[in-house]
Amino acid sequence: MTTPLLLHACCGPCSLEPLRLLREEGFEPTICWTNPNIQPVAEHDQRLCTLLKWANEVAHVPVIVAGDDREAWERGVAPAGFDRERRCRACYALRLSESCRVARERGFTHVSTTLAVSPYQLFDACCELLVALACQSGLVPVVRDFRPHYPDATREARALGMYRQNYCGCRFSAAEATIERHEARDARKAAKAAKRARENR
Ligand code: SF4
Repeated sequence: MTTPLLLHACCGPCSLEPLRLLREEGFEPTICWTNPNIQPVAEHDQRLCTLLKWANEVAHVPVIVAGDDREAWERGVAPAGFDRERRCRACYALRLSESCRVARERGFTHVSTTLAVSPYQLFDACCELLVALACQSGLVPVVRDFRPHYPDATREARALGMYRQNYCGCRFSAAEATIERHEARDARKAAKAAKRARENR
């Protein structure tokens, strides 16, 4: 017998492995989309379309498109700015609260999140909030460390031709990712220049 579970999904590529693994465990996941953090709106819509296409055509998993309260995100999350820990905790809390509300409303008993697959997320904070919010709502939090499966998810998403974003979602993460890419590029250039200098000695 399978156990129905509401799986908060942050995007299509991050849903691949959690869905497979939870199904293997005997859960019957329904995906819940609630991601008011994704900016700009066109990016949000592209990620949602990618998820829906894969869910309908490949995974055959139902998707509930829940609330995307952008004003609540601006009020409750944006003031943390570049304080990443504070910002991401508030962002997880907003999305996981909405997922728990939907789970209660639709009669689910178990809840989980695909955020636990990405090595770029704050795993401990995310799990802590999932447990706290699920328990407050009388739900069973299904906490799993999906991160070892992230490389498989990346390969599979590429093979399926899914759109893969290069930043987490909010405008702050887009700026942070750009800076990190520039720093990595500068470090590569410096390493090459140092190598050339050694060779010319
Ligand atoms: S980096 Fe990601 S999890 Fe953190 S606040 Fe931005 S969108 Fe939310």
